[in-house]
Amino acid sequence: TKEDVKGFFLRNAFVLFTVIAVILGIILGFALRPYKMSYREVKYFSFPGELLMRMLQMLVLPLLVSSLITGMAALDGRASGKMGLRAVVYYTTTTIIAVFIGIILVLIIHPGKGSKDEFIKQPQMAEINPTDAFLDLIRNMFPPNIVEACTKQFKTQYAKRVVYVTITVNDTIFTVNGSQVITREEMIPVPGSVNGINALGLVVFSICFGLIIGSMKEQGQPLKDFFDCLNEAIMRLVAIIMWYAPIGILFLIAGKIVEMDDITSMGGQLGMYTVTVICGLLIHAVIVLPTLYLIVTKKNPFVFIGGILQALVTALGTSSSSATLPITFKCLEENNKVDKRVTRFVLPVGATINMDGTALYEALAAIFIAQVNDYDLNFGQILTISITATAASIGAAGIPQAGLVTMIIVLTSVGLPTDDISLIIAVDWFLDRFRTITNVLGDSIGAGIVEHLSRHELQKKDPEMGNSVVEE
Ligand code: ASP
Repeated sequence: TKEDVKGFFLRNAFVLFTVIAVILGIILGFALRPYKMSYREVKYFSFPGELLMRMLQMLVLPLLVSSLITGMAALDGRASGKMGLRAVVYYTTTTIIAVFIGIILVLIIHPGKGSKDEFIKQPQMAEINPTDAFLDLIRNMFPPNIVEACTKQFKTQYAKRVVYVTITVNDTIFTVNGSQVITREEMIPVPGSVNGINALGLVVFSICFGLIIGSMKEQGQPLKDFFDCLNEAIMRLVAIIMWYAPIGILFLIAGKIVEMDDITSMGGQLGMYTVTVICGLLIHAVIVLPTLYLIVTKKNPFVFIGGILQALVTALGTSSSSATLPITFKCLEENNKVDKRVTRFVLPVGATINMDGTALYEALAAIFIAQVNDYDLNFGQILTISITATAASIGAAGIPQAGLVTMIIVLTSVGLPTDDISLIIAVDWFLDRFRTITNVLGDSIGAGIVEHLSRHELQKKDPEMGNSVVEE
């Protein structure tokens, strides 16, 4: 019908606009680089992009809470238990595969050569004891004050940090060794926290709260209705923000290209390292995940990926899987028609703990740093790296470059110098975008797979969950 045609055009127009925005952003960024803007000018220039980030982040808290509560309340205890188990098995399997790919590639390609001369090195001090970090992760699951969990991230008592972030523009105020440095004095973003939100704590709370409301039958109905309505309203806000997204993405990308480090000064080792990471992420995102989807669901994975293209491009632009979450919801529910009872559980949990790209990256980067230091890792140490990289990816928040911070845990676990994280800072912003895409893709494919596996439990159609279409 005419409506269908219009809807089809609108959906694809969004994707088209967003892709054009990325291309224009890249062109504009490179065109403006010769003007060597100051730090302040770059910030002014990327202001429209900053606004997009803020709009998306604004929705994350209500979306996370309302989707989890209503998602859990819509399922009976047994169904949600089974679905939860499937999701956890999926998260664990794909993360382990990702770590494995990262380790194999870095051992085969061997991008590090045992010399640090070609790196631009910045001082950086940060230390987190792996045991403390692990306990912090568990602590975060149980926020003592639920209101505070929405406004403040839990601050660790153990982490020390003075991190220097390199920026390339000529800022007259902060200059060290010719590159500019901003000192961030704030606390280490603790594992599980997103932009001041204790996401992990809220996820745990919302799951339990939703299950309880669901078990209360009629008595729980008012709260169910309330959160359902909240969720619906937020999704309508997302629909509005999507119109602005291409503009925001254009300026986010252009701004980043304007301020990035000079690529020509990138050493051979760093170049090889970048290529290795990209290869690993590509193998995982283009081969492993789609194959898994194909094997389990017997459906074309690339049609599925086509439906979430907008979310993937948003991940590229924002570098944040949690900021992308609203768009991911929209794409999966509207384009791919995934059951809302599945997306409402799998997506928020996935965005918080399931990060295949980050896990792959952390294992690979840690071994690269060992190679640069001419430090021979034995099998036990590589195993330790794979375990801590998995934990660090669970702990990493879905915010830009969170993986770089939690990597401290991986390095500390095998006694590598945490200072050496600064060796890879120059390219991290770039790699971060690709691991964020992989993270978002992993969560989305997870939703598709869990929906397929849970189709029998989902057969009982829930009238409130609108588009619950289950084939077979
Ligand atoms: N930026 C990534 C994300 O939001 C996390 C990371 O730094 O690896 O998914």
